[in-house]
Amino acid sequence: MLFSAVRAWLWAFSRLLLGGTFLLSGFVKVVDPMGMVHKLYAYAAYAQLHLTDGGLMLQFASVALGTLEFMLGVYILLGLHRRLASRLAVGFMAAFTAVTVWIYLTNPVPDCGCFGDAIELTAGQTLAKNVLLLVAAVYWMAGDFRRFSGSGILGPLFRRRLISDRNSWVVSIYAWCYAIGLALYTLHYLPLLDFTPYKQGADIRAALEGRVEDAEGSKLANFYLSDLQTGEDITFAVVADTGYVFLLTVPDALAADDGCNDRINDLYDFCLDKGYRFLMATASDSAGAADWCDRTGAAYPMVMAEDTELKAMVQSNPGLLLLHDGKVAGKWSNNDLPDVDSGKDAVLRSGAGRGAGLPWLVFWFVVPLLVVITADSLWIGHKFYKHHIYVKRFKLKKIMRKKIVAGNWKMNKNLQEGVALAKDLNEALVADKPNCDVVICTPFIHLASVAGIIDPTLIGLGAENCADKVSGAYTGEVSAEMVKSTGAGYVILGHSERRAYYHETPEILKEKVNLALANDLKVIFCIGEVLEEREAGKQNEVVKAQLEGSLFDLTAEQFAHIILAYEPVWAIGTGKTATADQAEEMHAFIRETIAEKFGAEAAENVSILYGGSCKPSNAKEIFSKVDVDGGLIGGAALKVADFKGIIDAWKEN
Ligand code: PEP
Repeated sequence: MLFSAVRAWLWAFSRLLLGGTFLLSGFVKVVDPMGMVHKLYAYAAYAQLHLTDGGLMLQFASVALGTLEFMLGVYILLGLHRRLASRLAVGFMAAFTAVTVWIYLTNPVPDCGCFGDAIELTAGQTLAKNVLLLVAAVYWMAGDFRRFSGSGILGPLFRRRLISDRNSWVVSIYAWCYAIGLALYTLHYLPLLDFTPYKQGADIRAALEGRVEDAEGSKLANFYLSDLQTGEDITFAVVADTGYVFLLTVPDALAADDGCNDRINDLYDFCLDKGYRFLMATASDSAGAADWCDRTGAAYPMVMAEDTELKAMVQSNPGLLLLHDGKVAGKWSNNDLPDVDSGKDAVLRSGAGRGAGLPWLVFWFVVPLLVVITADSLWIGHKFYKHHIYVKRFKLKKIMRKKIVAGNWKMNKNLQEGVALAKDLNEALVADKPNCDVVICTPFIHLASVAGIIDPTLIGLGAENCADKVSGAYTGEVSAEMVKSTGAGYVILGHSERRAYYHETPEILKEKVNLALANDLKVIFCIGEVLEEREAGKQNEVVKAQLEGSLFDLTAEQFAHIILAYEPVWAIGTGKTATADQAEEMHAFIRETIAEKFGAEAAENVSILYGGSCKPSNAKEIFSKVDVDGGLIGGAALKVADFKGIIDAWKEN
């Protein structure tokens, strides 16, 4: 118990750590894609790849990576698309870890850039972080502890998903739009969060004078401005200016967008008029500066500055930075330059307030999601959630629904052999009474004879099929009414062998189910995916469609006469059993699906049997799962000892 609690906590912790890190890492990239672009550019420069700085390709890579990481974080934390998310998380972490080993060994850039400019980590710290996350990803992918009793305030930590399958698309679409919208907005304007030392209000003068002794001060070590012609250092003259200084930042003059040159020239005229200093700062050489003058007709003075500092000042080429009394008073991207016609005060104020939006960004992400999740849980509160809370709080687990072991003889045993088998089983159960319902489903020709032999209080009798027609000219068919008349009370429908070899479609099965119920037969309805479907991760989809296709037109009252049997086709008669966890995962999903359609009570009451190479040796473990209510047994039902061994597994549970 203690061990499983520790494992459950580790699982929840892995999920939080992994989901939280992906969310954070994606968030800082979408909120500041250029931060990542500059890091990618540094990697490309190290690898001697000549990419255009800030070019579309790098911007796309940065936005794509950030959005993917962000969405992965959302999926992991909310438990959506768990299979895909866990595989992607392991894949991502394996790739990132390999890259960080390389970074650790070769040290191409001082900071790896995992968190853009927001959090700087050394190569060693990044490597340790990635190894830890890789372990967490593998552990989270492998484990499944959602059945650990996680009620109360910590309950969601252990819940597989925080929003129902049916409504999860709302959350997905919102999160995708949020991430992509944020990245595009930021690329067009400026980062909504400023992680650079040039954020709003930063005291550049104080930092340069060494009056600010913190880490930010030291980041400005490369800040200098020197006259392009004479080389004279004018850094202190600029930051000591107690008035307004407009700094047009053009890291790369040859690549800079000149579409806004009219606004820039107007702004220069405005500064001349008002007596404000206006300078263009570039990292390009004099040829680049001359090219800019030719293209834009620039008449303003130019100074040299360090490339990475210029990119940090304003993440746009060109960009505009306003200093007032040595402090950052505003910044603009080239798409958003101030309009001088709006008046002096408006111009001076319009670039302020960048990067102050964290609470709003969090608000606009968290609050709508919480609203959707709450609405979802209220909407299905009387169905799915109540079902789980009910089961956990009162620990009713399997008490309410029937435990059943049903045998499916298939096309085995002639009449005499079948009668003998039924007789032996009857005797064994009279001698040692079962603590579950036992049913045997036999070929049609055995039914009447077997009915006369078995003790109906110990063994129920069923057919393996019935017709989809009431009666008439259907040579070879046996109707539900005929089955009932033998003394049988059950019928297996939808078995995968009948679906595969006799082409029984959901529509045909629907007819059969209706006729069986109309004739007062209990239906053991089989569902399950084939191997390719499981390998493609489509098992839930397939099983849900099988349920919807044949049973979802029933009333809740009719549904009360249905027993479900989950039989993964790849496990039937192959000796390959689904693991108990795989069975439980699917049974829980089936129960949730039933809860969504027929309500919590129906979901709680329906017995869901597992079928597929069930044996005395594995029955106990499979039956121990909370949503497994017994088994539908093929091969092992043909030998009394084996069948009895499986029936007795209930005595040990
Ligand atoms: C079946 O056919 O229903 C079945 C479960 O078969 P087996 O137990 O032989 O895998």
